[in-house]
Parts: sequence; C-alpha cells; structure tokens
Amino acid sequence: MATISGLLPEVQAFLLQDPIPMFIGGQWVEAADGGVLQTIDPGDGSPLATVAEGKATDIDKAVQAAREAFRKSGWATMPANERAVFLHRLADLVDQSRATLAQLESLDVGKPLPQAAGFDVPNVAQTLRWYADLMVHTRRSEPIAVSGFEARQVRFPYGVAAFVLPWNFPLLLVGWNLSPALAAGNTAVIKPAEDTPLSTLYFCKLVAQAGIPAGVVNVVPGYGHTAGKALAEHPGINRMGFTGSPEVGRLIASACGNNLVPVKLELGGKGAAVVFDDVDPAAVAQKLVAAVTLNTGQVCCTATRWLIHEKIWNQFVKTAREAMQQIKIGHGLNPSTQMGPAVSEKQRQRILGYLEKGKAQGAEFVLPGGPATVAEHPDGFYVKPSMLSGDPDNVCAREEIFGPVSFLMKFREEEEAVELVNRSSYGLANSVWSADMKQANRVAEALVAGNSWINGHNLFPHGVPYAGCNLSGCGGGVLGPETLFDYLRPQSVVRALS
Ligand code: NAD
Repeated sequence: MATISGLLPEVQAFLLQDPIPMFIGGQWVEAADGGVLQTIDPGDGSPLATVAEGKATDIDKAVQAAREAFRKSGWATMPANERAVFLHRLADLVDQSRATLAQLESLDVGKPLPQAAGFDVPNVAQTLRWYADLMVHTRRSEPIAVSGFEARQVRFPYGVAAFVLPWNFPLLLVGWNLSPALAAGNTAVIKPAEDTPLSTLYFCKLVAQAGIPAGVVNVVPGYGHTAGKALAEHPGINRMGFTGSPEVGRLIASACGNNLVPVKLELGGKGAAVVFDDVDPAAVAQKLVAAVTLNTGQVCCTATRWLIHEKIWNQFVKTAREAMQQIKIGHGLNPSTQMGPAVSEKQRQRILGYLEKGKAQGAEFVLPGGPATVAEHPDGFYVKPSMLSGDPDNVCAREEIFGPVSFLMKFREEEEAVELVNRSSYGLANSVWSADMKQANRVAEALVAGNSWINGHNLFPHGVPYAGCNLSGCGGGVLGPETLFDYLRPQSVVRALS
C-alpha cells in the first residue's frame, strides 16, 4: 500500500484491495492460479498495490468473454447512436473521476499530478466522444456506382480487438486505442503494462457504471512474456493493436502473422527538432526542455535530437542548460514537482546506462545529468536531465533512451539538417522551428516520419492521424478518422443487373 500521504479516500480504498482483481466478462475476478503482481510507487520505491496477475488461462477466459459479448450482447449490432450514448456516458464518468484517475496515474507512473489531471485523463474523455460522434456520422452502407451492377459496401465491426499497451501513458493510450474499436462495435481485451495497470483497472469500474454490456471491455493485467504473448497468439482475436518497443512489436507481429490477424504497431522514436536561426533561441530552448523532460522523457515522440543552427547555438545552449538545471525533480504528487521519477529502477538504469555508453563513445556532456536524489524519498527512481553533444553516430544520438536526455548537433545548411534527421531508423515525429513558413513547411515535408510539427512539439489534435513509419510502426495509427475504419470490416455486396 502506498506510503505517500494526501491520497483521496477512493484511491486508498482501491489500492487496499488485496489483490485488485482483473475485469473479465463484467466480473471482478482473481487470477485462475491465484497469482499476483506488485506495483511500485516509483516516487519512493515502496509497494503501491497488489494486482491479480493474469496468464494464458485468464487471457483465454477474457477472449471468450469478448467473443460472447460480440455475438450476444447487442453491442456489435446496435445503431451507432445508441453505442455513442454509452460512450458519452463513459466519457462523462471519466471527467467526473478525473481526480481519482489522475492520482492513480501519477502514483503508478510517477508523472506530476497536474500533467495527469490536465492532459492524460481529460484526453481520454475527449477521445471517447470524438470517435463516438465520428461513428454516428459514418455511413454503415455506401452505394458504389458501377455500370451493369447494383453494388454497395457495408461496414461491420471485426469482432475482438486485442490491445497490449506500454507504461508511459497507460490511460491515455487506452483512450486512443479502445475508443475507435468500441465506437465501431468491436469488443476488446486489454493487457496493460505490468508496471502501471492501476488506472486501466479503475477505468473498468466506469465501464460497468456506464452500463456497457458485460464482456465488451475486458482487462487482464500480467507480464508480457506470459499474458501479452498469450493474447497476441490467441486464435480468437480478430484485430491486434500494440504500442511499445520495436523488439516486442516484432514478436507481436509474428504471432499475428501466424494467425493472419491484422495488426497495428505503434513503436518507439528518436524525434528531432530542427531550430533555424530566425527564431528566438531562448524561447525555443525553454519549449524543447519542457518537451524532453515531459513524463521524464518517457515519451515515444518527444524531441530528443536537437539540431541547432550554428548562429544561435551559444544562446540556445546557455538557456537550455539553465532551464534544465532549474527543473524541480520530485514525487508526482508533490505540487512543486515538474519532473517525476523514471517509471522503474530498470528504466532508471537504462537511462544511466545510455549515458555511460554515450560517454564511452566520446559524447561531450553539456549538462552531465545522472542519478538524482530527492531528500524526502531516497529510494525513488530519480534521474537528472542531461544534454549531450557530439558525433551524430553516437549511440545516444541513434537509439531510443526513453529518458530526459537530449543530444545536440550544430548545422549550417537546411539540407544538412534534413540529412541528419533522416539518418534515424525511426520515423515517428520531428519538429521544425522557424519564422519563415515557406522554409518550415518545406523542411516539415522533407523529414521522413509519421508526423512533422511546426513551431511546437508533441501536438495531438483529435482528427489528425498520428502514426509512425520505419522502426516506429506500421499498420495504421491513432487519433485520425482512418483509425475508425481500421476497426470496420468492409464487405462488398454486388448484384448483376442483367
Ligand atoms: P515494451 O515493448 O517493453 O512493452 C509494451 C507492452 O508489451 C507491455 O504491456 C509488455 O508487458 C508487453 N510485452 C512485453 N514482452 C512481450 C511479449 N513477449 N509478448 C507480448 N507482449 C509483451 O515497451 P515499454 O517499455 O512498455 O514502453 C516503451 C516503448 O513504447 C518505447 O519504445 C516507446 O517509444 C513505445 N511507445 C510508443 C508509442 C507510440 O504511440 N508510437 C506510445 C507510447 C510508447
């Protein structure tokens, strides 16, 4: 149980369950073998909650429950506007439970409470509403004009959509992934990350409260190599959505390939920011420091490679270094915290390990970073933000660190900057910073990735597709109208007229 004070009574009661059960077929159940896993408060290293640990048997039960709900609950066949009523009700409940969900998310992931309450949680409600409304305005059946035939295409939900999700934005990613699948009439099984299952489990209480039929949403917490693997390999799923690392993405894709299940992979990134000399270097430095320290740098698309025009290099570096040094590091629930801990000791060691590897390969440390100590919480998983510079082939310039580490490179010509950005094997998101919109748009199009942002980083408006290419993913994306159609199975109906 959490040792931190100031918890809401609802959060305390939720965490005190021993274990917090999983949610299958509308029931709260323990693991078939009675197994449990423990989540840790990364802010102080203490046990936070005990959670039922699902394995293959539990995953099988959840898939069967989702199949049954697809066939019999009426969810798949009810008109879109009726489903939208349920989804809007769920969105309202998410809004009403914002304080509880945000506190759980902050405790489990370590992120500052205002970020969870101001972005992650409300974004879930917005996503639910956005896809519910889009489905209401989507034609179920579209006539196709061809000579000699009467033809139409009809859209149906696929069946069971399976999701394996990561720990950095647990609830937000439930929103991005589940909303289109449910709006389209599918049922779902979610395997949240073993480090951060709490908000997803609490969300199930709201699913039940919203009156969504039993079995439409099922959540089985567990480890990747057991529960995640069993879900990806299950022959009863009809679609798979995976968000996580490229290494696991390959395993998930092979399992789905074997069963010929369509799969969507949202993977890692090594985002760049290209900063031209016609911007205010201090203002952009502040924004990029905010981007790379957001969620302790554990953000797939954030700006981690900073390409700075040589004319503004000195001023940019000075401001960025000062801004990084001023970041207040602390427990997510401490109101003065700007950057929380890494999610786990494993992740903290990964970040520190990369700094060592970068150093060994000759990186210059503009700001050293390294382990951080927070006096009140000596056992928390804290790191300081750091800034490196040097050879673009340095391991810290190439590989995803997933921590508050930026790698700076100087450039003179536009083409040079574009070439440096496009060296990456990732292709998730980059940004261009310039006062010249012609230049900004030209460079934005030349950077090879799913997303190019201008004069901002980490921009996610609903309605704009967000996806990756190359090592950052394939098979679709999220947040755009196309995502809804990923969850609708097209079927052509044709009658010869002669
Ligand atoms: P991860 O790949 O280690 O784990 C992701 C999920 O996969 C977890 O639920 C885990 O339990 C499960 N898993 C692990 N091994 C598995 C296996 N053998 N079979 C099936 N499932 C398995 O990733 P992570 O460390 O949780 O998250 C960080 C990664 O996620 C980073 O690479 C980050 O960039 C990426 N990410 C991408 C996006 C995006 O939208 N593109 C968003 C968030 C995170």
